[in-house]
This record gives sequence, structure tokens and C-alpha cells, in this order.
Amino acid sequence: MALTGIEIFKYLPKSNCTECGIATCLAFAMNVAAGKMSMAACPYVSEQVKEQLAEATAPPVRLITFGAEQQALKMGNESVLFRHEKRFENQAAVGLLLSSTDEPSINENKIKSYVHLQYERVGNCLKADFLYVEDSDETNPQAFTGLAQKAADMAPVMLCTGSPANARQALQLISHKKPLIGAADLKNIEEFAALAKEYACPLALVALDLQQAEQLSRRAQALGVKDLLFSIGASKISQALKMAMEIRYQAIADKNKDLGFPTILYPCAFSDSLAEESLYATVLMAKYASALVLSRLEGETLYPLLTARQNIYADPQRPLTMPSGVYAIGNADENSPLVLSCNFSLTYFIVSGEIDNSAVPAHFIIKDTEGLSVLTAWAAGKFSAESIAAFIKKSNIEQIVKHRRLIIPGYISIESGALEEELPQWQIIVGPQNAAELPTFLKKWPHI
Ligand code: SF4
Repeated sequence: MALTGIEIFKYLPKSNCTECGIATCLAFAMNVAAGKMSMAACPYVSEQVKEQLAEATAPPVRLITFGAEQQALKMGNESVLFRHEKRFENQAAVGLLLSSTDEPSINENKIKSYVHLQYERVGNCLKADFLYVEDSDETNPQAFTGLAQKAADMAPVMLCTGSPANARQALQLISHKKPLIGAADLKNIEEFAALAKEYACPLALVALDLQQAEQLSRRAQALGVKDLLFSIGASKISQALKMAMEIRYQAIADKNKDLGFPTILYPCAFSDSLAEESLYATVLMAKYASALVLSRLEGETLYPLLTARQNIYADPQRPLTMPSGVYAIGNADENSPLVLSCNFSLTYFIVSGEIDNSAVPAHFIIKDTEGLSVLTAWAAGKFSAESIAAFIKKSNIEQIVKHRRLIIPGYISIESGALEEELPQWQIIVGPQNAAELPTFLKKWPHI
């Protein structure tokens, strides 16, 4: 059971010295309990107590990192079963399968798709995260190691082979990229554990059922390997989902430390149809894959999958926001229209997209509404005439535009009169309610 802030507080000196950057020891303890700070930030807690607390405050699903420093990928570190209880920490990583028996041109095209299929959505870059290199013919280690080397130049890599000897050959070439290796089973766990220790790589364990997963986990830990994952190679989606859920439930609800590791699942094994594979991937992403392997990447299935992931892993306590300020769209100058909205990211990207579509350069001024959308912010008193006027006065917009004409969202037309009273130098223009109507509206500028 994770410690509460009050329990952690008992171990602190209670001097409120602020050296940890926090005003009081109690506030520091609350931050540690919420996983926002580490005990290491307090210099007055003994190493022994830090160790004791680190153990007690460790998340039930261990944090695993693989990949070279600049592109390191994090998995696990989870402490809740449901996002609304706190948040999910690390989104399910999406991997692309490369097979050592495929023609080189097939793998090259797949690597190209991995590199090129990237999308910008509400300020985040959406893309696949790693390459999964499968040793499909263990009698040909050169094909496996050659492919591993190519893949490791481009992305974090998981090396999948049943042969510890082939894994060693690949590690000799790419261990500096810190790949994930596996998957170890009951026959080769000793050899794989030795490799994981020697090359400091996380190790995946074959998890066909819970009993085997626990058994392998205990053996790997006894052999000194702590960074583990479960590779759930079920043959049916229903079995895979059941295993992923049971592992996560046992780790979090039952505090089973032997199952407290991330999972990797294989939607690519359940269907030849890319659309079905993508649907299975979405289901597994929701419960509770830490990583997924896809057979190939195509925009029409990857983008919806990554969008679903963005929604599942958004922090429910922190809406996606844009920094408040003035954004010039196109070659906006001092005569360009001035459009006001809130700082909810989705609103920003939809409205700025429509301004862009209008081909009318404009200034887009964003007021901080704590990430609330226009109507919600207005209902909460964060988009009232008074607060907008105060924001406009504080902003430097009067130095940016020569005119004094402000276009407000149609949904807050009710505030236009009060705004004109608050900003007597300004003409308040009520814009459309729907962003899609903005291009037609803006094209009339300055005759609005
Ligand atoms: Fe308290 Fe330690 Fe922070 Fe000082 S550094 S305020 S003693 S928690």
C-alpha cells in the first residue's frame, strides 16, 4: 500500500527549512505521496530512511526505460487501475514488427513508414515509438543482427529471439542503444538474465499464463534482474486482454510485487486485417498494455489509434492548454483582424486551423481560462467581460494592432455590451459560434 502524505511526514525533520524548494515539510510529504517529488530532494533524511521509503512509495508497476538517452522510452510506473483515480503515467508504446526473414526492401519500407508517419495534434507529436526486431530464423543470426543494427539507428529497439546466443551477438553491436531483450522462458531464463545484467538491458519474460509469469519473474529477480516486462504471447485477443487485466489487477489491487511490471502485447497476431488489428490494439491500450506491436503502419489506422491513445492517457486533472498570449497567423500585421478565444488546446488548434484556412492573416489572442472551453469558461466566470477586459489591458495587443476591433466568440455574445463598457476604446465584434464559419466571416474583413 502506498504511503500517505501524513505517513511520509512522520519521517521528515519538520524544520520547514525550504531547501527542497517547498515551503513546508508537510507540503513536501504531500508531493512525495502524489509522486511529484522524490525523497532525494530533502538532504536531512538518512539514506536508510530514504531506502525504506523508496520501497514503500514505489509504484506497484515498476518503471522500465529502454532506448538510447535522447529517445529513451518509459513504460509502467503505474499506480492506479482507473484514470480518474489519479492519471496513467506512461502511454502505451506503439512498436512496429520487423522480421529477420522478410525481404530487406520490406523492412526498409517499414522503417520509412515508422519515420514518416508523424502527426501534430493539439500541440503534441503523435507517432509510433519503437521497432520490434524478431529473430524469425534462429539459424541465421546475421540476418537478425543486421536488422537489429539498422533498426537501432532509427529508434528504440526490442530484440525478440528465443536464442540467447543470437541476442548476445546483437547486443555486442547495439548494447549502447539500451535495447529491450527477450523473451526469456523457463528453459533459457538463466542465460537471458545473465545477458540482461551484463548489458544492463531490461528483460522481457514469456507470459503464457499467470503462474508462469510469476515463476519467471521470481527467478529473474533472484538472479538479480529487476527491470522486467511480461511478453503476453496469447493466441486470441480475449486471452491477451484477460492476461493483461489480471496482471495489472494483481499488481495494483493485490500488491503482488512479482507481477508489478509492464506488459507487451501483440495485436499483430490476431488478424490479417489492419483495421481489425488496429481495433484490437485500441482495446488492449485501454486495458492495460504498456506496449503494443503492430504488423505495419498505415496512416488511416495509425492516426485514429494514436488519437485514442492521446485521449486515454490525457491527465484528467490537467486539461490540455496553450500558453496565454498573442499568436500571429499568416503574415499578420498591425491592420489584421484580432480574434479572441480561450486557452483550451483543442479550441486553439481548431480555431487557428480555420483562421489559416481563411487565408486572412490574423492575430489570435488567447486568454488563460485554465484549459476550459469557451462556454464552460464563461459559465465558470473565467471568460466574463471583466476578466477579458483586464486581460486585454494587461496584454501588449495595443502595440501590435493599430485598430481597436476585437472579435469575440459567438457563444459569449451576451458579454459584448459589458465588454464595450469595460473597453470603451474598443469595438466589440461578435464572431461566429462555430469555428467552421470563421473563414467566410474573416474574408469580409475589414468590412465586418
Ligand atoms: Fe522539510 Fe527537508 Fe524540505 Fe527542509 S528540505 S522543508 S526539512 S522536507
